Amino acid sequence: MRASSKFLRIRPSCDRLLPSLNPTRTNPRFLARNFSSQIPNSPKIAGKFGTSALALSLVAGGALGYYGSQFSQGVGSADLKELHGPPNISNKKYASSDEMMSAIAELREAFAATPDVVSTDPNLLHARGFSENSYHPASSHSVVVEVHSTEDVVKAVKIAGKWRVPVTAFAGGTSLEGHFGGTPRVGGICIDLSNMNKIIQINEADSDLICQAGTQWEHINETLKEKDIPLFFPLDPGPGATVGGMMGTGCSGTNAVRYGTAKSEWFLNATVVLPSGEVIKTRRRARKSSAGWDTTKLFIGAEGTLGIVTEVTLRLAPRLPTTVAVVQFPNVRLATSAVAEALNSGASIQCVELLDDQMMKAVNISGMSAVTYPEKDSLFFKFQGSPQTLKDTAAAVKRIVEKHGGTGFSLAKSDKEADDLWANRKYGLWSTMALVPGARCWTTDVCVPISRLPDLVYGTKKDLAEHGITSTILGHVGDGNFHALLLFRNDEELEAVRGAVHRMVQRALDLDGTCTGEHGVGLGKKEYLYEELGEGTVGLMKTVKDAIDPLGLFNPGKLYPDAPNTKESH
Ligand SMILES: Cc1cc2nc3c(=O)[nH]c(=O)nc-3n(C[C@H](O)[C@H](O)[C@H](O)COP(=O)(O)OP(=O)(O)OC[C@H]3O[C@@H](n4cnc5c(N)ncnc54)[C@H](O)[C@@H]3O)c2cc1C
Repeated sequence: MRASSKFLRIRPSCDRLLPSLNPTRTNPRFLARNFSSQIPNSPKIAGKFGTSALALSLVAGGALGYYGSQFSQGVGSADLKELHGPPNISNKKYASSDEMMSAIAELREAFAATPDVVSTDPNLLHARGFSENSYHPASSHSVVVEVHSTEDVVKAVKIAGKWRVPVTAFAGGTSLEGHFGGTPRVGGICIDLSNMNKIIQINEADSDLICQAGTQWEHINETLKEKDIPLFFPLDPGPGATVGGMMGTGCSGTNAVRYGTAKSEWFLNATVVLPSGEVIKTRRRARKSSAGWDTTKLFIGAEGTLGIVTEVTLRLAPRLPTTVAVVQFPNVRLATSAVAEALNSGASIQCVELLDDQMMKAVNISGMSAVTYPEKDSLFFKFQGSPQTLKDTAAAVKRIVEKHGGTGFSLAKSDKEADDLWANRKYGLWSTMALVPGARCWTTDVCVPISRLPDLVYGTKKDLAEHGITSTILGHVGDGNFHALLLFRNDEELEAVRGAVHRMVQRALDLDGTCTGEHGVGLGKKEYLYEELGEGTVGLMKTVKDAIDPLGLFNPGKLYPDAPNTKESH
């Protein structure tokens, strides 16, 4: 898979932290793995037992469908755990182990012309079922199909339907809430779209672009830049995320304050393979359409439970010059009030990010920044517009932040300095890891109305301090979207972190917020949906799911909660 060039641009000061600048090894998933491999009890099951032991257990088990599905990710003694299937898949009948083997044999036959496409390599099954970024239970798939076209997806989905095998889409693998694991005690087919990464057509005059679903957002923007096309795709989630996964999770990122989130204003249409194997295209390429209700939207935030997206038309935005400024505050409340006034003033702000005092400390000690920052709650602004607009915006925002107690307002003096400052924001996860050497990091998000953000931050910080949890806070503050990066070193600390995440979500819901502003539901947040959305709305979601996927084959166990007020144990 293509590496993110953001990582290729890391400055020499970072070299000691990064394994190498080799494109494959600088992929964020590699980085996450590399950091975790320094931890004695790293949950790399394949590494721990060795490929041959896994292969042996595969044969000895005699049931491909069961292979690996009993492994749960965790740390230390929690490495191996039998999983209990999420209750909401228990009323569906899935393939037996014999039927799973028949399905795999049929897949091999269907893809006989390209034999490498179908794989039961234990390491690959594990890599596609488990995430280094999630501490929710996970399971291996039974087989991975590396698709190259919509037709490939149709072939695999039809075989899955015939044998009632669960199907889970995988693309960038950067999602954070247990989105793409296999189905416990069943296994399933992982449809890996990461090779479907082609930009098919760029329509500059129409400001849109057609690409395959496995295309990474950075690749799109780099390609447009290389071709000297003054447009870009503004949704910017984790490095390495793909268009299909971004639709799947309903993502956003730092640009959301100016450009909004993954909604159908940005996804003009999608080609989707439904659980029946039927292929639909949700709309044509016209910029707008009121021809019926918006079927594209149905697949945004659906986490691969309603269809597998294979091709998308994206709307693009003009790429404007930008610059970056950083300012410190005595506390989060003052920082938030400054943001509200700056946004309401109409200043030309593309992004505004909150990094708390702990995060700034982490940036300093990580060695990833050439600048040493004051270790105070800080705002990172990105301004956009013509050179004159940038100057005027900086002056206006400086006045506003100083009125709210901001100090040390520092504006980048060159594009390079702006890139370097912004990189310090973007590498928040890796900087956080430097706070506790050898620790692992649970990243999660919630979102509240902007004015309630200080209450959320203070409540959470107090709770984390009371429970002795080291963490940093990173917020897309312009949207009231708050990320906590919580560190732990062992099972006991992991459980403390799990409890803190639960209390943080409850706090956000109590503040009229949501359990996730942009990361999505997966396994991690589904228990909150009834409380947040109400029985009627969740019931409607389930009705749609049942109508489109009556056998419950697409990504079972994710997104839809089981029953009102049921706290599911994963
Ligand atoms: C360091 C870091 C920073 C991050 N920052 C942000 C951020 O700022 N904002 C944000 O929103 N997220 C962020 N994320 C989370 C992540 O990048 C997003 O959730 C992203 O949208 C996932 O895309 P992906 O291609 O990796 O999807 P995957 O992880 O591969 O899959 C995600 C879900 O989508 C489904 N899916 C994948 N492809 C398809 C398809 N073609 N059709 C249908 N369903 C599909 C999968 O089955 C799964 O349920 C961050 C993650 C990391 C590691």
